Amino acid sequence: SDPDAIPDAIIVGGGIGGLGAALALARKGLRARVLEQASTFGEVGAGLQIAPNCTRILAEYGLLDEARELGVAPADMIMFDALDASELTRLDLRDLERRYGFPYLVMHRSDLHALLLRGCERAGVELVTDSRVDGLAGDGTGVIRADGGVERADVVIAADGLHSVARASFVGDAPVSSSYVAYRGAMPIEDVRGNDVHEDAVVVYVGPRCHFVQYALRGGSMFNQVAVFESPRAKAGQADWGLPDELDQAFEGACEQVQRGIPLMWRDRFWRMFDRDPIDRWVFGRVALLGDAAHPPLQYLAQGAVMAIEDGWVLAEHAARNRSASGAVDWDAALAAYQAVRPEHCRRVQTTARDWGDLWHLDGPRRDRRNALLRDRDVRDYSFVDWLYGPTALEPGQEPEMFKPIPL
Ligand code: FAD
Repeated sequence: SDPDAIPDAIIVGGGIGGLGAALALARKGLRARVLEQASTFGEVGAGLQIAPNCTRILAEYGLLDEARELGVAPADMIMFDALDASELTRLDLRDLERRYGFPYLVMHRSDLHALLLRGCERAGVELVTDSRVDGLAGDGTGVIRADGGVERADVVIAADGLHSVARASFVGDAPVSSSYVAYRGAMPIEDVRGNDVHEDAVVVYVGPRCHFVQYALRGGSMFNQVAVFESPRAKAGQADWGLPDELDQAFEGACEQVQRGIPLMWRDRFWRMFDRDPIDRWVFGRVALLGDAAHPPLQYLAQGAVMAIEDGWVLAEHAARNRSASGAVDWDAALAAYQAVRPEHCRRVQTTARDWGDLWHLDGPRRDRRNALLRDRDVRDYSFVDWLYGPTALEPGQEPEMFKPIPL
């Protein structure tokens, strides 16, 4: 393709959201150019859960078989109490796959990212590294690179993550600190055999101000752990929060299954957990926010990357619907249709994710009430995930009723 030709879309950021959007547009025959600031395309971190509302889209892209091979389709998702290790509730993920038609997978982040990257290469997406974007061109149909160059397109998609440049110029809000920190660790499965782990389940231990997640990755050859806790130093307003001494303290009262996992966490890096308040406008002229730039969530529903992939699919569907016989896209109409449906869905996910975190981290009598309610739950009751795992809505009228949790 001609590198001097103006693409239909410039996508700022080559994370999971940006690559997903580029692939979706390229599959519709549109020219997409991704500008990534890093010198190579890649992902840091370890595991990622991808629910049926995302595997449905991967299937449409022809990527599901490969995703299954690279990842794991666990049999169950099980929630335990982190203090006494008792089981609280579970989801039968085989039954869930029958219900929604698509699997619940867990994958290494870099495997999902590489899968999308290969899809982009095959679909002819222009993938440009070492290309940081510092701002938007005055009329909104272009971006200004850090080297001063201006690139133009019919539409600019800002998929530049939590610290989005475009969001800063249009919205100007700040990330919200949750005072929680995540430690991650991925290791050969042999390292955890003997630790009473569940190799065929996604497991979460929920406890007062902390939780601990475990699942196998890469066809069962690796094991992923995430330890999340509230930092006392963050609560006290100190800058040096989330260090490993706080990790150790946070899990001192946890059950043995959790205690055994803590020494295996990577201790040289950690993720302070921020989200942002939901915003109801993502489209500013010909610039659209997407992925974490639009709706960074706390990760308790495991829907951040999933929503980012949904965003790209919805945008591309509307671009295709608003295309004339000559091939020209009515971008104003396509962006309006995207704006009409996605912010409300993602607002629900962001606010529910915050509530979910509160529920997981309860202490005292409220923890007892939560545990009693979860133990009573019928394992075939899907009312709390139907609104998430069903087909992604293209129009507001297709958006299902949201599950309203019972206040504790
Ligand atoms: P990012 O991944 O942040 O990508 C942004 C990209 O843009 C990067 O490549 C960056 O280098 C580039 N960039 C940034 N600024 C510029 C610029 N100015 N110019 C050019 N390039 C730029 N989600 C799930 O769906 N399931 C899970 O199980 C899950 N678990 C999680 C666990 C933890 C502990 C955390 C922290 C998050 C989790 N998430 C999960 C959320 C998920 O990781 C994110 O929502 C998702 O990765 C966001 O993708 P993105 O492409 O929008 O943003």
